[in-house]
Amino acid sequence: MEARGRFPFFPRDDQDVSDEQREIRALARRFAEQEIRPVLAEYEAREEVPLELLRRMGELGFFGITVPEAYGGAGLDHWTYAGLMEELGPYGSIRTVVSAQQSLVATPILHFGTEAQRQRYLPDLAAGRIFGAYGLTEPGAGSDAASLQTQATRDGDHWILHGQKTFITNGNLADLFVLFAQTDPGQGHRGITAFLVERDFGVQTTPLKGKLGLRASDTATVFLDRVRVPDSHRLGQVGQGLRIALHTLDHGRIAVAAAAVGTSQACLDLCVRYVQERHQFGRPIGTFQMVQDLLADMAVETEAARMLTYRALAARDRGGRFTQEAAMAKYYATETANRNAGRAVQIHGGYGFFEEYEVARLYRDARVYTLYEGTSQIQKLVIGSHLTGLKAFT
Ligand SMILES: Cc1cc2nc3c(=O)[nH]c(=O)nc-3n(C[C@H](O)[C@H](O)[C@H](O)COP(=O)(O)OP(=O)(O)OC[C@H]3O[C@@H](n4cnc5c(N)ncnc54)[C@H](O)[C@@H]3O)c2cc1C
Repeated sequence: MEARGRFPFFPRDDQDVSDEQREIRALARRFAEQEIRPVLAEYEAREEVPLELLRRMGELGFFGITVPEAYGGAGLDHWTYAGLMEELGPYGSIRTVVSAQQSLVATPILHFGTEAQRQRYLPDLAAGRIFGAYGLTEPGAGSDAASLQTQATRDGDHWILHGQKTFITNGNLADLFVLFAQTDPGQGHRGITAFLVERDFGVQTTPLKGKLGLRASDTATVFLDRVRVPDSHRLGQVGQGLRIALHTLDHGRIAVAAAAVGTSQACLDLCVRYVQERHQFGRPIGTFQMVQDLLADMAVETEAARMLTYRALAARDRGGRFTQEAAMAKYYATETANRNAGRAVQIHGGYGFFEEYEVARLYRDARVYTLYEGTSQIQKLVIGSHLTGLKAFT
């Protein structure tokens, strides 16, 4: 029996899908299958970042999908970007670089940066000529980001930044950091300010190795030892930092949700093929009802996650806040990706436990989705506070 194809690119009327959206998605799929898939396992085994692939992705414009053309990007919409995330989702080590660069660095510069800051950084970020990193998390401040300890002290027309950030994606590659520091401890979370800090200002980083998944991605601890940052590199207003951080995460969470949908879809596609090839008891295992039960759950939940992701994109397009929709999409899609990766390993039996089978990598990589850019518990608290008007935290 022939395997059924994927779901349509977009749930809306097919006529709503622009040629550009279709082209970018097809390009990403081709690039992933022809250039990423054949080499990724080797880089993962060495815990090495595939810089040559990243350079190629820069040339293809993958780092500047939503950056306006005036700043060197493709000037496309967030649906197109989500399509890219979905296609790259099954290749977590690569996808996470694109997402950190675009959702977490270019986006806040675009929304909160001065014209000079946009012109200075966006063209290079969009082309992948420089890499950016987003530094919010600290050893003592993860979910409770507002309790961060990095200090920024005013010194004339400069700030002195002192502290440490951890788990920072792209940290060792980065030329530019969006960093958050406390400028007025008496003000609590209203005292946090964002800065655009160039590595050359004196930022030190060390690699964090030994990750469960995303083994070919770069993660760093970032050290700020009294780093002098000109006030012209402040991003947004003094005291606006936490707002910038959370606004940025609203965007990032939709990208993570889209990537998780891509992971779920890849698990399903691999399983639909496998259950027709693998025979037990003289028949393809796909004929067994309990295997079909697993496949049906995978398909329904993948599609539900996709719908929630599209709903968050639509809310974003309407303007205003979309925190609730982004949290719902991120929570459901990332939990689904983990469930589906587990089901995919189950369907592959013992073979799924070996790296030779792609489901093993999908299983490891999916694990981080429910942790970074806000854990599932934090997404539920965001959703709960929107429902009740009662906040578990500031
Ligand atoms: C591979 C990787 C890449 C990352 N990249 C970046 C990056 O680029 N930039 C960046 O700034 N950060 C990054 N992070 C950090 C990530 O965002 C944090 O790990 C995450 O926010 C959780 O913080 P934590 O690890 O300190 O866990 P903790 O906050 O210590 O949480 C531990 C557990 O307690 C739960 N918990 C905490 N508070 C509550 C509460 N109020 N109610 C219920 N449960 C609660 C959590 O849900 C979790 O299960 C990355 C992390 C990883 C693993």
